[in-house]
Amino acid sequence: MRQIKFCRACIVLYCSLFILAGCSQKPYHKETRIMMGTFVEITCQDKTAMNAAFEEIKKIENIANKFSPASEISRLNKNGEIKASPDFLNLIKESKKYYALSGGAFDITVSPLVDTWKNKIKEALEKKSENLLPAEDELGDKLTLVGSDKIFINQKESLVKFTQSGMSIDLGGIAKGYAVDKAVLRLKALGINSCLINAGGNIYCLGKKGKRKWHIGIQHPRNPGKLLFYLDLENQAVATSGDYEQYFMLAGKRYSHIINPETGYPVDNGLASVTIITKDATTADILSTTVFVLGKEKGQALLEKIANTEYRIIEEKDL
Ligand code: AMP
Ligand code: MG
Repeated sequence: MRQIKFCRACIVLYCSLFILAGCSQKPYHKETRIMMGTFVEITCQDKTAMNAAFEEIKKIENIANKFSPASEISRLNKNGEIKASPDFLNLIKESKKYYALSGGAFDITVSPLVDTWKNKIKEALEKKSENLLPAEDELGDKLTLVGSDKIFINQKESLVKFTQSGMSIDLGGIAKGYAVDKAVLRLKALGINSCLINAGGNIYCLGKKGKRKWHIGIQHPRNPGKLLFYLDLENQAVATSGDYEQYFMLAGKRYSHIINPETGYPVDNGLASVTIITKDATTADILSTTVFVLGKEKGQALLEKIANTEYRIIEEKDL
């Protein structure tokens, strides 16, 4: 585990992809679809395999989209229990694992707070009044519903159950990475050994592009037109979480979409972004969100315990 050194002018975020011309014989195709509330881009030489990869991502979207009433997540949130499919169970088990590892910083049960903040900030922006932001007691009420230890799993029966009524989950911090990994598995099963998948900044680089590693540029968190650092990756994932892509500005203050489950407030700890490079996209997705919540010191302490992981933490003051 090491913090990569980079110069100030090399800070990046968001994931714009810059693919250097490879020496491969077969041409690469690139297709972008709107899925999972973001842009999903696949670069690959085989169009049939590419469609299969998109199909895998769609399957996870159908499970984890909390805005679709038919999804498993919506049914769990509505009924408080569900007989889960293997993928839904995996998503919840992996989330609970990192809830424990992070001391509660990664917590999918923050959903009631995510929704409260989203709705209140929207209202406050429309009516141009900061007074409409959530009140302490409202946040206090929602906080009583938070804690992934309150999600009960019966592995044998594939049963997932909330132990408190009113709870709900949000898989926004893990589902895109998980979907990318599922797509990669499908591609490998089809014999594909060179492909790049980018689901809203959750990227997996399968093999190389021709003779070179995949060349990834990540955008500056405060200047979308600027790329500040590059990564050359092969069979690795990279994900970035930050306060620059999804946020609200109200009275000159930036409100992140990532919630600190300890306080109930949007994260406000001086970080602008966290980029994680590791072996799979699920872990990269979870860890980037988690470290963004934990802040620099606690985040680094957690990352030091995780093998084969590199990171770049960008502080607001660096920009
Ligand atoms: P990401 O963009 O991957 O960092 O994930 C951010 C999304 O994860 C938010 O839009 C919420 O849906 C969800 N989320 C917010 N706060 C947390 C948290 N503390 N733990 C887990 N998921 C969160
Ligand atoms: Mg994430």
